[in-house]
Amino acid sequence: MLSDMGELRILSIIPPMTQLNTPYPSTAYLTGFLRSRGFRAEQADLSIGLALKLLSVEGLRAIHERVSALPREQQTAATRFFAEHFEVYRTTLSPTIRFLQGRDASLAHRIASRHYLPEGPRFASLDQYIDGEHGEGDALDWAFGALGLQDRAKHIATLCLNDLADVIRDAIDPRFEFVRYAESLAASQPTFDHLDAALGTPHNLVDAFLHTLTLEALSRHQPKLVLITAPFPGNVYGAFRIAQSIKRTHPSIVTVLGGGYCNTELRAMSEPRVFDYFDFVTLDAGERPLLALVEHLQGTRPLDRLVRTYTSERYVDFKEPDIAFSDSGAPTYAGLPLDDYLSLLDMLNPMHRLWSDGRWNKLTVAHGCYWKKCSFCDVNLDYISRYDLATTGVLLDRIESLIRETGQTGFHFVDEAAPPKALKSLAQALLQRQLNISWWGNIRFEKSFNTSLCQLLADSGCIAVTGGLEVASDRLLKLMKKGVSVAQVARVTRAFSDAGILVHAYLMYGFPTQTAQDTVDALEYVRQLFAAGCIQSGFFHRFTCTVHSPVGKHPEEYGVTLSPPLHPTFANNDINFTDATGVDHDAFGAGLRKALYNYMHGIGLDLDVREWFDPRPASRHGRTKGTRRRATRDVPRTTVPPDLIERSLA
Ligand code: SF4
Repeated sequence: MLSDMGELRILSIIPPMTQLNTPYPSTAYLTGFLRSRGFRAEQADLSIGLALKLLSVEGLRAIHERVSALPREQQTAATRFFAEHFEVYRTTLSPTIRFLQGRDASLAHRIASRHYLPEGPRFASLDQYIDGEHGEGDALDWAFGALGLQDRAKHIATLCLNDLADVIRDAIDPRFEFVRYAESLAASQPTFDHLDAALGTPHNLVDAFLHTLTLEALSRHQPKLVLITAPFPGNVYGAFRIAQSIKRTHPSIVTVLGGGYCNTELRAMSEPRVFDYFDFVTLDAGERPLLALVEHLQGTRPLDRLVRTYTSERYVDFKEPDIAFSDSGAPTYAGLPLDDYLSLLDMLNPMHRLWSDGRWNKLTVAHGCYWKKCSFCDVNLDYISRYDLATTGVLLDRIESLIRETGQTGFHFVDEAAPPKALKSLAQALLQRQLNISWWGNIRFEKSFNTSLCQLLADSGCIAVTGGLEVASDRLLKLMKKGVSVAQVARVTRAFSDAGILVHAYLMYGFPTQTAQDTVDALEYVRQLFAAGCIQSGFFHRFTCTVHSPVGKHPEEYGVTLSPPLHPTFANNDINFTDATGVDHDAFGAGLRKALYNYMHGIGLDLDVREWFDPRPASRHGRTKGTRRRATRDVPRTTVPPDLIERSLA
């Protein structure tokens, strides 16, 4: 292996499944870096490749065969509907994919008519957000008005794809989703047993397609070294299946696994079976470990001088400084099928759509987080703790290089929390160079984002920001070391909104010591923030304790007791805990999500927040008095004055 590397062709692969609207940026960064160092580096996105293959006529026929062979007792509403409407799917789906790829806008008229695509069980979701407030027939009219023809068609087409994902799940692989795949086999799995067993089963249709795509990529690029990046647990099964295909057919190719999943979950791995698939597994920022590995493969560096790399024998970490963020080269999307990505519209909310609709060039303003204090966050890991900022000049060069390469002027800054000073400097430089871009990114809601800075950012092309409000409670924000208060978040988010910038808040429930009263009060704050026009979108996450976070390291400071350690040999991230408050947080999850879903569509902002926790489903024409009394009795009344946010803003 070491003496036969010749000209080292390197292929970076994105395994399924990631988002369908734009490439995940890890291979773009790696490929850009490797090319900047003179390597022959290519990249392939097998996530979009697999999705398009499943949605092709060939894919639909193969799915239909599997559905037709299902025994009666295994048929579901989704598979029955698909079988009944197969001919319509077969003839309409390819044109619909072309529409979602932006190649045939005129098809929007037919899709939006709702007489073109089959409408399976997922179309029932058109009713969900109405919740008795609007009639069924006017749901899309309400959301898109008379002019949003393209959006209306995109939403209908997205529901159609969701129906097909359900068919694949029910007929072929119960672990399938278009944005994550077989996630449970990898997320916090203490042993490799489940994943190994799954990898030992014969190929199902999804596996077979992935195998074919892998061999095609190998044939096209002829690599000697393949880097597979698994950002999330939902990419890990796909990553191992790709490596398995490579090892079975081209055993001399060196395979390497890296990415966010390894950086968080595989820090204490001792599982030898992983090396049946991968020759090496690297941790944290990939540039330095990769350079060391390439030198090793070329015979100029001994094995014991690898950097943050597992080999089949042991973990090697020869200490060498990481490549500075400004020296890591401009990311490149060269070689990725930029015209093939699908603009989807899952949610009828203008902010939420940014994640699934449109192509975004992904960049980071800085490596790591400048705050690195939040007690629920992985502040002890490199991707948070090593803060390294590129200069504005470097950032502008990268922006210009990506515009030249892709022709696209939309940018998503995928920082953990982009620093306000750097954003200000970037905005000024964008305006000076008259560089017209649209951009959005993740920030902390800190007070330096005042009215004038928000206006400057908007003038430079900022269209949206996302940030963590977590649990809207000053006591809990302090315990989290979030460094913000609810009133401050209200003022900052209002400044963004007044500048015309959309705001999405990451919200949390179930944090240590959180009581039922805290949860109800936090939802009341959130309601007031929506009502006051401070935020337009949000998402509730259930708090999970990770072994790398301050809560996981010092549970006693947060009033929780961790479950006994499992001594994992494979993944290790989430850890169970007991909170002395004893609150059943799961009982609140559905209500919180339902409230938020409706708030995002401007509905229910005048309701008492206790209404969302009603255990009985709402009737289409409003709730009965009896239901309201029951909800009121079970859930505590909020202690937050109804005008608290308005007063903070005043
Ligand atoms: S939660 Fe966000 S702001 Fe807090 S330390 Fe982590 S990355 Fe930084």
